[in-house]
Amino acid sequence: GTKSYQFMLRTKNPCGKVPNKLYLVMDDLADEFGIGTLRLTTRQTFQLHGVLKKNLKTVMSTIIKNMGSTLGACGDLNRNVLAPAAPYTNKEYAFAQETAENIASLLTPQSGAYYDIWVDGEKVMSAEPPDVTAARNDNSHGTNFPESPEPIYGTQFLPRKFKIAVTVPTDNSVDILTNDIGVVVISDSDGEHQGFNIYVGGGMGRTHRVETTFPRLGEPLGYVPKEDILYAVKAIVVTQRENGRRDDRKYSRMKYLISQWGIEKFRCVVEKYYGKKFEPFRELPDWEFRSYLGWHEQGDGALFCGLHVDSGRIGGKMKKALREVIEKYNLNVRITPNQNLILCDIRRTWRRPITTVLAQAGLLQPKYVDPLNITAMACPALPLCPLAITEAERGIPDILKRVRAVFDKVGLRYNESVVIRITGCPNGCARPYMAELGFVGDGPNSYQIWLGGTPNQTSLAKCFMNKVKIQDLEKVLEPLFYNWRRKRLRGEPFGQFTTRVGFDKLQEMVNKWD
Ligand code: SF4
Repeated sequence: GTKSYQFMLRTKNPCGKVPNKLYLVMDDLADEFGIGTLRLTTRQTFQLHGVLKKNLKTVMSTIIKNMGSTLGACGDLNRNVLAPAAPYTNKEYAFAQETAENIASLLTPQSGAYYDIWVDGEKVMSAEPPDVTAARNDNSHGTNFPESPEPIYGTQFLPRKFKIAVTVPTDNSVDILTNDIGVVVISDSDGEHQGFNIYVGGGMGRTHRVETTFPRLGEPLGYVPKEDILYAVKAIVVTQRENGRRDDRKYSRMKYLISQWGIEKFRCVVEKYYGKKFEPFRELPDWEFRSYLGWHEQGDGALFCGLHVDSGRIGGKMKKALREVIEKYNLNVRITPNQNLILCDIRRTWRRPITTVLAQAGLLQPKYVDPLNITAMACPALPLCPLAITEAERGIPDILKRVRAVFDKVGLRYNESVVIRITGCPNGCARPYMAELGFVGDGPNSYQIWLGGTPNQTSLAKCFMNKVKIQDLEKVLEPLFYNWRRKRLRGEPFGQFTTRVGFDKLQEMVNKWD
């Protein structure tokens, strides 16, 4: 049937930047060749689902023509580099975004072959690789780079996909600790940029019933002066290329190399390629989640407006209204790592007419979205992802409504919330292991329940229960939320409460509930 010839196409947008023209092109392509909706991903890119094989070439060339090199990385190489999506023009944010773009181009493969797109054994197209940065070929820094025509990827690329995020202190809109490399801009007291803190070894994916696979948080590697960042990133990537496991894809992410070696040994090996010692990791203030919803000043006189998009899915009235304002005012947009959309570069005089259009589409009502939805995420899962065991995106609206009903029943107020993330398999694309309440599909209509993440995404959840049937969620959630309301410390978020109380006590609460 035609089903097996449908493809998902991913774009590449460092920092989630989407130029005006690209947005309009994607909006058209979704209607013409896709399933009529656009989807924003948790890595700040577009996914276009349902493109048929016979249309793939047209779709790809249209995208490439409209924004140069845009093919999203899918294979065993660096994925889209995350950075805060807010278009703030201050030095710190601008530097984070510039760094993300530089890292993205540093790690774009050079061999044109990698850009050939093969479908069912047939080459459907090739794309030109972008410019090479100086750092890629300059090995004067380190002493030990292996000889190779691909100075970074070598002849066999990386053992597995690789994920990088860049941010500024306090802004954890990028889920910094879930990446193979997390880079944090460090400035002096005058706001002048000095260097970078680097975390390594984060990653979400695991395999059910294989206890030796696990989600892991990034940990501090060290600090580098600003001129060294690309050399340091390159040294880390080459360390993984040369030492990451290739015999079993379950264990080939860099987090397993670091877990096995320990951070000290990992640092030593990276330093051989980097050619220097890392300086001590600089102290950082606490992380915060930022949604950027609503109206904000960019800092250059213009405004930006963040809009919530349920599961990143843009369709219907919302798609029409967005198209109208983006086209009319020639707006650039950004995709956030929380699958939301930011309209950028809005002049003050446009605020009122834009507000009118968005409000008519129901996008700016004061309570158009339940606080639970603001931080919730779900992966595409069924029917779009071949790895899916059960529902995620299609199931989340109902699950959130049921959680809200449980909140009402146990006496939690409307403005209270918990971070809920749902995936259809343990691969963890929507980062469920960072949620306060994570659902990970483990069978048809059943989920593992993970508890213990925090609202600012700084601690890892743990698996509380397995094989909870979708129809039985209330039996678990009611006792948990009831006890949270009754027994929490002042201001204690749900994730911290479940960690403090401990799983034995929580299990007792669930068992004796009826
Ligand atoms: Fe597919 Fe699993 Fe990722 Fe969901 S988490 S999109 S089911 S691979």
